Amino acid sequence: MADIAKLHELQKIDTTSQKVRRRLSQLKALLTESDDLTAARTRTAALEQEHQQWYSQQKTAELEAQSLNTRIKESENRLMSGQVRNPKELESLQSSIEALQRQRDSVENTSVEALLKAEELTEHVTTARNQLQTVQKSWSTSQAELTEEDAKLKRGYLHLKKQRETLTAAVDKTLLQQYEHMRERKGGTAVATIENEICSSCNVKVPSGVLSTLRSQSDRMVTCPSCGRILYAK
Ligand SMILES: [Zn+2]
Repeated sequence: MADIAKLHELQKIDTTSQKVRRRLSQLKALLTESDDLTAARTRTAALEQEHQQWYSQQKTAELEAQSLNTRIKESENRLMSGQVRNPKELESLQSSIEALQRQRDSVENTSVEALLKAEELTEHVTTARNQLQTVQKSWSTSQAELTEEDAKLKRGYLHLKKQRETLTAAVDKTLLQQYEHMRERKGGTAVATIENEICSSCNVKVPSGVLSTLRSQSDRMVTCPSCGRILYAK
């Protein structure tokens, strides 16, 4: 293979490698939890926590009401037992029972309100959990595809690297330096092909004189008069 043809091969490898690297860096960003998923997870956790708080509040109120009922019953038993005879003591016992009853009523109200809140939230929690599951499922599917693509591209990249090593070892060192230097200056493309007498890189017509030099001396480095890239005629 003539050296210019090798440079053209090298250019193809380098262009592909560049695309692969670009895609790999996109994948790196994509292979993290999506904003949708984070939002759904946060929302569900917040609702679950609120739900739990209302249930604990209800449970606490229920236990307090039970304990108040016991105290009321004890006081009522004492009142009925006939052991207390002093009118002042009786009056005080009676008003203490009434106070306990008021306290119990208020606690029972709190309990009912908390239960209603918790039940209302049950539906929201279920909806949020279902949404989270849907988002998670679609994210997992896309992740599986992306992970596969990532692994495939990494393997491909290694293969390109090996191909490049073999090829550069076979190219004249000075020519290779010129190629690398030009690639740096010309946005990654040092070698252009000719399609219908037009430079594939800058799309300008290549003068016939240049074309004939290119055809007669295939191993000589000929550059595009317009963009300066190395021309390769198939
Ligand atoms: Zn050109």
